[in-house]
Amino acid sequence: MTNRISHWIDGKSWTGVPERTGEVFDPATGEVRARVDLAGAGEVHAAVEAAAAAFPGWRDTSLAARARVLFTARHLLEARRDELAAIVTAEHGKVLSDAAGEVQRGLENVEFACGAAQLLKGGFSENASRGVDVYSIAQPLGVVGVISPFNFPAMVPLWFVPNAIACGNTVVLKPSEKDPSAASFLAELFAEAGLPEGVFNVLHGDKVAVDGLLGHPEVRAVSFVGSTPIARYVYETGTAAGKRVQALGGAKNHMVVLPDADLDLAADAAVSAGFGSAGERCMAVSVVVAVDPVGDELVSKISERMAKLCVGDGREPGSEMGPLVTAAHRERVASYVDAGVSAGAELVVDGREPGIAGGGFWLGPTLFDRVEPGMSIYTDEIFGPVLSVARASSYDAALELVNSNPYGNGTAIFTNDGGAARRFQNEVEVGMVGVNVPIPVPVSYYSFGGWKNSLFGDSHAYGPEGFHFFTRTKVVTSRWLDPSHGGVNLGFPRNF
Ligand code: NAD
Repeated sequence: MTNRISHWIDGKSWTGVPERTGEVFDPATGEVRARVDLAGAGEVHAAVEAAAAAFPGWRDTSLAARARVLFTARHLLEARRDELAAIVTAEHGKVLSDAAGEVQRGLENVEFACGAAQLLKGGFSENASRGVDVYSIAQPLGVVGVISPFNFPAMVPLWFVPNAIACGNTVVLKPSEKDPSAASFLAELFAEAGLPEGVFNVLHGDKVAVDGLLGHPEVRAVSFVGSTPIARYVYETGTAAGKRVQALGGAKNHMVVLPDADLDLAADAAVSAGFGSAGERCMAVSVVVAVDPVGDELVSKISERMAKLCVGDGREPGSEMGPLVTAAHRERVASYVDAGVSAGAELVVDGREPGIAGGGFWLGPTLFDRVEPGMSIYTDEIFGPVLSVARASSYDAALELVNSNPYGNGTAIFTNDGGAARRFQNEVEVGMVGVNVPIPVPVSYYSFGGWKNSLFGDSHAYGPEGFHFFTRTKVVTSRWLDPSHGGVNLGFPRNF
């Protein structure tokens, strides 16, 4: 019998009868490994109501007690990290080492959230006027919705959930229906860590569940990560309903290689950042911008390395790149390779026939050279193992290319010239910049977010901006009369 994956509501697995279910595949074999319940209005209501009911108690739980739950969750996650990584690989397809890296980055966000007591301190100004003190307090928002994409089924929930609950909120997480098990695993793990019932709920589903959360008056804020059209939709719908929304969208990341760069380092970086996780990363390098005259040499070094890449089942120790997440996504990505050929780009490595037996969703690494800005392989986010090389005549031309792109998630420059790197970090219109680092994902004590069409809203994810997003501040102006002055108010507002 196929496994059933169901919602986690009010501290337990939901046992009702779902109106709809979806298939969850093992992408390496193409087999259906489970069916996931897809929430209807009733389940949305149940999850939000459970979170709303849990809010008053959790909000008033001491900082020390909240931190203890997070420390315990951190300990459990550390102990069970391999199990979680295996779940990610089984449903997403990325290789185990990659999945382990994802869990590690998630874990670091739990560690950050353990510092809530320090992070939630407000300010205090004694004697803003005589006898008058002014201070700020950061309070939770209430029920928070978290909507996550398929490509980091463990890490993206952990970008938000630990920080949201550390701040005293309660959460309804709606993970991707393509690889839902990691979210259920996390909810059970936090329950085992002592999180009270209803504080962290998981609602499985698709657009119906998302729309249910966006329309529910008890949901005060939404953190979304996914493609740009859906991010825009979630942002516009959520804010129109009066909610606080941060919606992180898609990407088209450029890696600029200047003529003085170490080309071996750059080629290694292009291959790992272009094809790691089969290119299904919002920080994947999608376009290498080779500044004259390094193009030919760089393309040759990249293709040499691609020939050695081992594509295979993510569970096999030697595999470096796994399959794509679904058959439909594999077809979509392959159609971009066809489109690139038709548009006249130079196909240097063709991954369309990777020669792997069985029914998995395989596509080999593909490299195009002399890609022009008008081609769909340049304009669209492909989200697969297709790397484009565009040629630029100068640093200025490369910068212009990056800055005229509508996305602004991540970028990198490869150079040995500190001045050029410094100029690039200053001039580039992108939220996260790497200098000789191809995937500059900020550590947990900074915040993650792009610019332009890669982020709707003004708060980045996790880190200090995460705490900012999940709290609202209140400023108290307080006057106590000083008996030594005969109880007479000597201060505010006269001497303010
Ligand atoms: P997606 O936009 O298809 O789905 C994201 C979430 O939205 C899922 O939970 C899904 O169920 C839901 N959803 C899908 N269609 C919907 C609709 N019509 N209405 C309401 N909700 C809907 O994204 P995906 O394919 O799961 O993930 C890949 C995308 O996510 C890529 O574009 C990638 O760049 C982006 N991403 C961005 C970041 C970032 O930090 N900027 C991080 C990871 C992934």
